[in-house]
Amino acid sequence: MRISDILRVKGEQVITVTPETSTERLLAVLAEHGIGAAVVSRDGAVVDGIVSERDVVRALAARGAAVLTEPVSSIATAKVRTVTPEAQLEDVERLMTERRFRHVPVVVDGALRGVVSIGDVVKNRIGELETERSTLAGYITGERV
Ligand code: AMP
Repeated sequence: MRISDILRVKGEQVITVTPETSTERLLAVLAEHGIGAAVVSRDGAVVDGIVSERDVVRALAARGAAVLTEPVSSIATAKVRTVTPEAQLEDVERLMTERRFRHVPVVVDGALRGVVSIGDVVKNRIGELETERSTLAGYITGERV
């Protein structure tokens, strides 16, 4: 399965914040949308970084509540791993597992086209396992599924 198949179902919407956005505002954005990370972008298209709840927790533990009024650029990851819609889901799964992150922005010609999260990956995997399970059950019982 390709990443484009996942985006076709979930859509291309990506929540972005500008680098100047305060960490406090970022937390409100994450809570409002029920997400764990936002792409940092000056124009909503170019990926300037990524910032997740994990970055906030780490910065709070290291520097305390002062972080809340700092811009997200001070806690975000600048070197972002991205994929194209043609990437295979299995490769993105491997990337997330090896690099230990749960979000991968999808980019085409330098512009954001979506984001894949670990939740999308797990949802897809469960669907595949369920299909496989019912096919195998059909073989065993001789019932058509
Ligand atoms: P996450 O597991 O996505 O909450 O992120 C864990 C850490 O990896 C945080 O420091 C993020 O800023 C960073 N991170 C998340 N996604 C990516 C990505 N696609 N490329 C590089 N770093 C990332």
